[in-house]
Amino acid sequence: MDAAHPEPGFSGHTILAVFAHPDDESLACGGTLARLADAGARVVLLCASRGEKGSVSDESLLASRDLARVRTDELREAARTLGIADVLICDHPDGDLRWADVPQLHDEIVEAIVRYQPDGVITFAEDGLYWHLDHVGVHERTYTAVRSFGADAPPLYYVTIPKGLMRDVVEAAGGSALKDTKFWGIDADAFGEAAKPPTFVIDVRAWVSRKLAALSCHKTQMGPSHPFARIDNDQAQELLGLEHFRRAPTESRWNSIIERMGQPVPIA
Ligand SMILES: [Zn+2]
Repeated sequence: MDAAHPEPGFSGHTILAVFAHPDDESLACGGTLARLADAGARVVLLCASRGEKGSVSDESLLASRDLARVRTDELREAARTLGIADVLICDHPDGDLRWADVPQLHDEIVEAIVRYQPDGVITFAEDGLYWHLDHVGVHERTYTAVRSFGADAPPLYYVTIPKGLMRDVVEAAGGSALKDTKFWGIDADAFGEAAKPPTFVIDVRAWVSRKLAALSCHKTQMGPSHPFARIDNDQAQELLGLEHFRRAPTESRWNSIIERMGQPVPIA
């Protein structure tokens, strides 16, 4: 299966992805979202904030605009690159997503489920990729919102990054010779440090270049010295060719197209 030979049969299906900041979608599971979209699924992204507290790789990118505005545009560009059909951007405070506006974000996720009737929902796992409290907050809100549908809930999937993967990316991109060995200021070893094991993986080797292209749409977040900007295509395909998921413990009664795309976790 590759991008030139799309898998048929996913039209009429919708997947809702819920993340915290512009760029989470591309980093966490950009390959899976692009593969779903190519297969005909409608992919909807709910982003809880505009990422206004993020770093800025190059001040000239802001011109006279504020970061929230610029990152909103970057997110729309990344969404186009991945084939995401609808982007719902909420205005909750970046940096305070775990505690601020709890009922509002819960309601927005519930409303998105009612409106789009997704047959699967994707969000962060308990570890928030690297214990980012905004990510943990979005995980909690999404879990409770999906759970509120009881047995009618769509299946919920947690995406994780395995421990060691981002360190391998840094090494492949040049290791200690790199000007920047961190990801958005986060140490490579923090990713996956507290992740529970995945239960299935999705092969996105043919979509890795789209994932990297989507990440690079987030220009304020990814300057030329970023490890993802330095890694070559072959290495990227090898290291980022699988995205890792675990089904959440909800009462939902059906399997989604996400599991149909999945395969067992390879034995290391
Ligand atoms: Zn984030």
